[in-house]
Amino acid sequence: MQSLKKYRSKRDFSVTAEPEGSESPNGSAKKLLYVIQKHQASHLHYDFRLEWRGVLLSWAVPKGPSLDPAVKRLAARVEDHPVEYGGFEGTIPEGEYGGGTVMLWDRGTWTPEDPDVDEALGKGELKFALNGKKLKGSWVLVRTKGYGGSKKESWLLIKHRDRYASTEDVLEKKPKSVLSNKLLDEIAAGTRG
Ligand code: MN
Repeated sequence: MQSLKKYRSKRDFSVTAEPEGSESPNGSAKKLLYVIQKHQASHLHYDFRLEWRGVLLSWAVPKGPSLDPAVKRLAARVEDHPVEYGGFEGTIPEGEYGGGTVMLWDRGTWTPEDPDVDEALGKGELKFALNGKKLKGSWVLVRTKGYGGSKKESWLLIKHRDRYASTEDVLEKKPKSVLSNKLLDEIAAGTRG
């Protein structure tokens, strides 16, 4: 899944404002981007993205992240996205893939807590620290056996116990965009013209 072929094949870039993207290897000294986009498509979900090897590894999290280490949130692995997608907020035209409104819900950097990220991804257990505006501290993504007949890989996104762990509902407490400070419906209204 280290290619943008699938991402591009689903989109008509003459119609949608989403970036077409370019693949480039990570600069060694560069910090790795972390992004969560709140996406009101046919179903509301949160797209969790980690920059790795020049693309954004991506998971769709229907219920969004939880700060409570006792709560495991289902995260369906989806196709890699271009790094430029991490700056995208706005509306995807109806009828296009993922049509609906996208909010930049959180953004920052991430640091692997495993020495070998590719090996950790292969094994299905990636530990990392987030340094976003809303989410911080240690987390883990764990691959599961999967549900039903879904072809998508099922993972669980879980907060590790640290000083950023909490039972507070961060989705409810911090609903606004880190880019525009807007709510989802304000973004939808603003870009409809
Ligand atoms: Mn999405």
